[in-house]
Amino acid sequence: MFAEILTIGDELLTGNTVDSNSAFIAQKLTEKGYWVKRKTTVGDDVEEIKSAVQEVLARKPEVLVISGGLGPTHDDVTMLAVAGALNRKLVLCEGCLERIKAFYRGLYEKGLIDDPELNDARRKMAYLPEGAVPLENTEGAAPGAYIEHGGVRIFVLPGMPREMRAMLEREVLPRLGERKFVQRKLLAEITDESKLAPILNETLKRFKVRIHSSPKGFGKYIGIIIFGESEEEIERAKALMEEMGVRFGEGW
Ligand code: ATP
Ligand code: MG
Repeated sequence: MFAEILTIGDELLTGNTVDSNSAFIAQKLTEKGYWVKRKTTVGDDVEEIKSAVQEVLARKPEVLVISGGLGPTHDDVTMLAVAGALNRKLVLCEGCLERIKAFYRGLYEKGLIDDPELNDARRKMAYLPEGAVPLENTEGAAPGAYIEHGGVRIFVLPGMPREMRAMLEREVLPRLGERKFVQRKLLAEITDESKLAPILNETLKRFKVRIHSSPKGFGKYIGIIIFGESEEEIERAKALMEEMGVRFGEGW
């Protein structure tokens, strides 16, 4: 079960905004049992986004989560680019238009904006690639989209972290089924990673697990995360490492 993440925005490439969205999405997908194999970031450019999407699709992940560039301004071109990459048209989603209308009316009634009416920029957000299922945005105007294409499940989410998180939790994660992959964080009492290396190699050879290790400073502990398909498999891998002389403390 492998997944990829594509984040979009010039501000991510200039470093003006730290790409916290991809970290959040990666964490949630990992918890769901997906192996996130690659993250890509491109700017607000139709051709760049199109080719990034096509490159991802060629690798055939089960899931692709895209975030950013759904808003009303000229540089929000993600839906257009995704439609182009999939060779689909952009079509009006009537329900989305109604929601967008209601969203701006709500802001107007709260005195936050001075014009409740739809204009071209607001209407633009109601266009999704043909065949897409709209994803509800409980925190903002722009809907997301869920598209199945050539065996890849594509989710297109907003860039604003608050909107992205809500949509991921409500609309994406429930569609991703049951968790089949588990991770366990352990502290290995061992002085440096080179001592751990042969032990990890042996463990990886014997069990269906992935192991990520990160030093916590020389001399005492190394943080280890074991990923596996069941608690039992992780337990067996841990037991083998113990047999080979590693002592563990829980969590980090
Ligand atoms: P909206 O529908 O809310 O307008 P959008 O999809 O158009 O969202 P952007 O215009 O790309 O989103 O970004 C909105 C805000 O979210 C910006 O302040 C931007 O810096 C921030 N943002 C965008 N992408 C990310 C990301 N990957 N990580 C963290 N913040 C992000
Ligand atoms: Mg943007």
